[in-house]
Amino acid sequence: MKESASVAGRDMDLIDTHCHLEAQAFAGDLPAVAAHAAAQGVTAMLAVGVSPVDFPAQRDAMAVARSEGLRVAAAYGSHPWWVDRVSPDEAVDALDRVHAANGAKLVAVGEIGLDFAGTADDADRQNALFVAQLEWAGHRGLPVILHEHKSADRLLYWLRRRQHAGGVVHGFTGSLQQARQFIDQGLYLGVGGAITHPGAHRMHRMMRELPLDALVLETDAPNQPGHAHRGERNLPGYLPENLEALARLRDMEEGALLERINRNVHRLFGDL
Ligand SMILES: [Zn+2]
Repeated sequence: MKESASVAGRDMDLIDTHCHLEAQAFAGDLPAVAAHAAAQGVTAMLAVGVSPVDFPAQRDAMAVARSEGLRVAAAYGSHPWWVDRVSPDEAVDALDRVHAANGAKLVAVGEIGLDFAGTADDADRQNALFVAQLEWAGHRGLPVILHEHKSADRLLYWLRRRQHAGGVVHGFTGSLQQARQFIDQGLYLGVGGAITHPGAHRMHRMMRELPLDALVLETDAPNQPGHAHRGERNLPGYLPENLEALARLRDMEEGALLERINRNVHRLFGDL
């Protein structure tokens, strides 16, 4: 991996803005996973929550990653896939609790959002769970980390109607036009492993055309592995591959690109 070594050699921050350290896939070897990330030049990560019952495990996993030399910041939230198990009140109570316990260390609310890939019979409950957390974040000036799957227009609908402090659309699957609408709302777009797939022409075109000032890098590990790791779990240490793919698409040198991306991360999340 000479690209990641060159990035590491620059002493530049390489920040994974979206991973799930407490995931079952990392239960057996999280210290090795974190050490691998550090060896690949990753310096910091944003650990993103999915459900209140998993927040304690997330905190434990973050401590493990820190002991391998990584800076790890936290986002907490209730993901739309947990809509059957977490009510809007429970989601907000859980945010109150982690906010009181973590204070300034809670840098964002997420992963929250809408997923309309399946039958839409839980759409009302998804909207309620999402909006309760969007409002909670907006009132505290915290950015949100959005899960978007066939739900871009509905997310935009809420963003236009609720006070919010921006955030990032992670794992974006929508159109270039929708991406621009998110950017107009003050949102950034997370660039993950999908960009490394050779056949992802629409994604490649989008990543060439969107303003650089709107992009951040992410892995979503252990989910959404890139092309070189199809069928495997994804790792935070694969983040340099996403940087490399984006640099190639933008015809930019990796260091120069990363400098721009890091400015975005700091605008969005402060100092991680
Ligand atoms: Zn995620």
